Amino acid sequence: MNIPLAKAEPALDEQNKQTHFDVLIVGAGVSGVGAAHHLQEQCPDKNFVILETMGTHGGTWYSHKYPGIRSDSDLYTFGYRFKPWMGAPIAEAGLILDYMGEVIEEDHLAKHIRYHQKVTKAEWHSSLGRWTITVTNTETEEELVYTADFLFMCQGYYDHDNPYTPDWPGLSDYKGQIIHPQLWPEGLDYSGKKVIVIGSGATAATLIPAMADKAGHITMLQRSPTYFWTGENRNELADQLRALDIPEEWTHEIVRRQLLALGKEIQNLSKEAPDMVKEELLKVVREQVGDDALVEKHFTPSYRPWQQRLAFVPDGDLFKAVKAGKVDIVTDHIERFTETGILLKSGQVLEADMIITATGFNLLVMGGIPFEVDGQPVDFAKRFTYRGLMLDGLPNMAHVFGYFRTSWTMRADLISDYVCRLLNHMDAAGAKVVTPTLRAEDKDMTPRPWVSEEEFNPGYMLRGRDKMPKNGDHEPWTFPTDYYVEKDLLPNYDLDDGVLIYQ
Ligand SMILES: Cc1cc2nc3c(=O)[nH]c(=O)nc-3n(C[C@H](O)[C@H](O)[C@H](O)COP(=O)(O)OP(=O)(O)OC[C@H]3O[C@@H](n4cnc5c(N)ncnc54)[C@H](O)[C@@H]3O)c2cc1C
Repeated sequence: MNIPLAKAEPALDEQNKQTHFDVLIVGAGVSGVGAAHHLQEQCPDKNFVILETMGTHGGTWYSHKYPGIRSDSDLYTFGYRFKPWMGAPIAEAGLILDYMGEVIEEDHLAKHIRYHQKVTKAEWHSSLGRWTITVTNTETEEELVYTADFLFMCQGYYDHDNPYTPDWPGLSDYKGQIIHPQLWPEGLDYSGKKVIVIGSGATAATLIPAMADKAGHITMLQRSPTYFWTGENRNELADQLRALDIPEEWTHEIVRRQLLALGKEIQNLSKEAPDMVKEELLKVVREQVGDDALVEKHFTPSYRPWQQRLAFVPDGDLFKAVKAGKVDIVTDHIERFTETGILLKSGQVLEADMIITATGFNLLVMGGIPFEVDGQPVDFAKRFTYRGLMLDGLPNMAHVFGYFRTSWTMRADLISDYVCRLLNHMDAAGAKVVTPTLRAEDKDMTPRPWVSEEEFNPGYMLRGRDKMPKNGDHEPWTFPTDYYVEKDLLPNYDLDDGVLIYQ
């Protein structure tokens, strides 16, 4: 899928010296690379750069190195709408990186990406009508300054350097190794070792079966159970379409639609008939684990399905490891760490050579980058979101935050379309600056959290949502978390709505 380049491209040396861009994208993860694709296709006259802290593309899929690291949603929807996914629905990180690498190659994006460039400050100056972006080269420690008309924040939503580990009593007493999956050391040897994995989310569910054969024994220690759903890691419809030699672009789109329709049904049912969905999910787990009492105790959550991400266990690998006796599950609370393991509230003691804390991450707003508008620091927690993609009072800036129940990329694609439409609209109107601005009737809005606890309540969101921008009590000051609603609205919103103020 080669996209013709609209402008004569400057020579590479020239490009590397360039420090002003029409659009500056922060981050070369799935969102940033997708943004570059859309920008090139829909705004061919804009020049742009992606600045990325790490030494390569991929973001999450490059930085996470724990055994078995894979998606928990299917790649037909986690993949871009413009690039067919041809593998099994659930994919390991390496395959996702390869897929993104193909996008970069096919779209000639490499020359637009500058690696080892960590953005450390973003300042908007109204007198200049543009952003000044301070950057540190992570290899040379050199400080650089870029300027950009429009800033597109694709930096992800969590702190890549500082994962979340609760401050358990006695943590420093423990003499074995403590590892957080987000900072997995290369070549970590766990063969034959007695391992405790603390956590019950997608990460624990992924790394436990991946470690089970080599480790001596694994105990999965969870405070409370999580919903899992499982099935073969294949899509029957995709297999049928491929057998009929249907073009891959069609297969991708058809299977995407099938999975989105299924997702919608499950989401609706989870709200309307949560007990039924719960029973269906548990039925499958019972079949796989073969021990009803164990499922009752360790796989039956107290919340309703989809209040937290529903983790997919491909081919039931976690359940097979439990059934084979390679993994024990303990549902209990930690009293304290000891020199050799963990003492639980129940009095039970778990011994371990190694403890893995699959306890999640810390939410980080805009990559932790300090923002200023005309010399005034921006406190994101005091800003209202404009449709979950811009912020009140922040000129020429959009950011990506994906869905919780539908693949992240579905929203990243929609937001990129919106940004491209906005940029083209500004060009057509001769506007240089756009700022979502509170109207008189918006000034007294009651701030609401980024996401309500009832809607979505995993630990990282409850811990970090106070730092996130706020929802107002009416549109357009809300973050619509539902793909099925937003997909028809976002492409059609009036860009002259009296809230987007152009200069
Ligand atoms: C282990 C794991 C599994 C997941 N699985 C799924 C899944 O199956 N389905 C799903 O929908 N979602 C999943 N998610 C959520 C996932 O993070 C997103 O879906 C998606 O990968 C995010 O892409 P992104 O490009 O927005 O952010 P990231 O992947 O976080 O990438 C952001 C990039 O921006 C760079 N960056 C950040 N700050 C700066 C800065 N100051 N200067 C320069 N560069 C910067 C980072 O280095 C990084 O490369 C998962 C998350 C994790 C942690």
